[in-house]
Amino acid sequence: MTDNYCDYSKTEAKPTPKPEAPAYRPASYSEYNAEYISVWDGGHEVRTPCRFEYITGRIDAVAQSEELPEGGCDGEFVEYNGEIFDVCPNCGEGILVPSNNNQVKCTQCAHTRIA
Ligand SMILES: [Zn+2]
Repeated sequence: MTDNYCDYSKTEAKPTPKPEAPAYRPASYSEYNAEYISVWDGGHEVRTPCRFEYITGRIDAVAQSEELPEGGCDGEFVEYNGEIFDVCPNCGEGILVPSNNNQVKCTQCAHTRIA
């Protein structure tokens, strides 16, 4: 899940929540409760189930993906309870949340960037 070849500068790649998204339950260790989304050239979204702990912002496990599209990946996200979060491009195990000085920071590693 640390796909550092992604071009994270393409913010227009951010997906929109699915209206039919299920009402996710709180994470328990054994079940997938969120979706991991990678967006590829042309806007093709690949969604796979993942485990996400909302309290700590930790992406715990991602299900085996379908065959990935041709071209480059433009961004990676987690959808949880109808919200889309940016996946940390550094560790791939955290999400980027607002921090000081108009920055965002990873919930799991020391990565920060301008929001
Ligand atoms: Zn990180």
